[in-house]
Amino acid sequence: MSGTFLGMPAFPANAAVAVRDSQLRYNLRRATRTIRGKRAFMVDELPDWAELRRAGKEIKDHTLRNLEHYLLRMEEAVTAAGGHVHWAADAEEANRIVADLVKATGETTVVKVKSMATQEIGLNEALLAEGITAYETDLAELIVQLGDDWPSHILVPAIHRNRSEIREIFQEKMADWGRAAPEDLTDEPRALAEAARLHLRERFLSTKVAVSGANFMIAETGTLVVLESEGNGRMCLTLPETLISVVGIEKLLPSWRDLEVFLQLLPRSSTGERMNPYTSTWTGATEGQEFHLVLLDNGRTNVLADEVGRQALRCIRCSACLNVCPVYERAGGHAYGSVYPGPIGAILTPQLRGTASELDASLPYASTLCGACFDACPVAIDIPEVLVHLRGKVRHARAERLGMRVAGWVFDRPTRLARAQRFGGRLRRFVPGRLPGPLSGWTDTRDIPDIPAESFRDWWNRTDGGAR
Ligand code: SF4
Repeated sequence: MSGTFLGMPAFPANAAVAVRDSQLRYNLRRATRTIRGKRAFMVDELPDWAELRRAGKEIKDHTLRNLEHYLLRMEEAVTAAGGHVHWAADAEEANRIVADLVKATGETTVVKVKSMATQEIGLNEALLAEGITAYETDLAELIVQLGDDWPSHILVPAIHRNRSEIREIFQEKMADWGRAAPEDLTDEPRALAEAARLHLRERFLSTKVAVSGANFMIAETGTLVVLESEGNGRMCLTLPETLISVVGIEKLLPSWRDLEVFLQLLPRSSTGERMNPYTSTWTGATEGQEFHLVLLDNGRTNVLADEVGRQALRCIRCSACLNVCPVYERAGGHAYGSVYPGPIGAILTPQLRGTASELDASLPYASTLCGACFDACPVAIDIPEVLVHLRGKVRHARAERLGMRVAGWVFDRPTRLARAQRFGGRLRRFVPGRLPGPLSGWTDTRDIPDIPAESFRDWWNRTDGGAR
């Protein structure tokens, strides 16, 4: 994954800073509650939502079980349609392929459709190092790029910004990237959208190379599918002379019939709409446009090898799990230190990047395990199950495992438990109010409960259940 976020402190330290930012919390609460409400309404009106959800899960599981077969089929179909397929094992290879393709056109600028995969590999930074400037065209991504900021939500990357902040960014930074914002720009949504539209239109009409991701790839015909709301995607996909799509290998669907399920699941779960405004599909090269597909692994085959963790590859990046997560709503997306924030980020990032860094090792703990994410997920990813599984794998879980083994041994025999309770009762005066050293996190925000002088069991025996 991209180094953009690497070197950040662990989640608890990031979250502690974020929760003190009252403006951020207000922005997040407002935005997540609005999307959450819309989604709930749209899901409730479908009588067969549970069946759709099950179908989505099963289609994805089937595809992942037969991934090699469908990938080869995709390659064959794209090639037959005049496109070129490139295989990238990791971020470095993917970035090199894209940079070489752009250089071969002689261009030094590209326009981009919003794409998590290209953010994951740090494509913009890699292109810049080769003298190529990538211009984001999704409105929220544009705000993030102009603000020299990081995305903090999968669907709404600038969710942490309010209207007046966006106006300031446009006025201060737009001129550095192309057409300037009007001097009398207000923070009215219509005025902000118009400033972005005029700024971007110049870019669309003058740029000859586009880079996109895809929400889905259909192996049967070699077709790519992008769902979006602003029409910027369609401009990027159709106007430039060269189109390069960087897509994670897990985005495959076997057939068009399968797409029907996801065209219902995704818009309802993400923007809370029955249907998204723009669905673009393209197959291979078209007249006047060269097409390259970069199939990206970057850790996905490792995730696939993990029997519990592989369900994360079913994710369709709808962001429903973020909008229902009490931790995300308070900590915001930046605390996760990855382009994948929230519950899905807490299970996907440590699997893609590993848990060697302090930040990545802390992500499986960035959850209360309340299960709201699982309930909301349209492809039934059991995020709490994967979180617990990953907690068992991170370094400092050794101490936790030892503690659990001791607890298991004590709880295994009533006589052992009774002795331990009596022992605890005798030591109660020496128990500190706060735990020391690495255990101090437990008592930073809560007191250790008092140990009773007498256990319930001893009280029951002594009083015959309260009768004496
Ligand atoms: S894990 Fe599920 S709810 Fe979360 S973004 Fe992925 S598909 Fe959506």
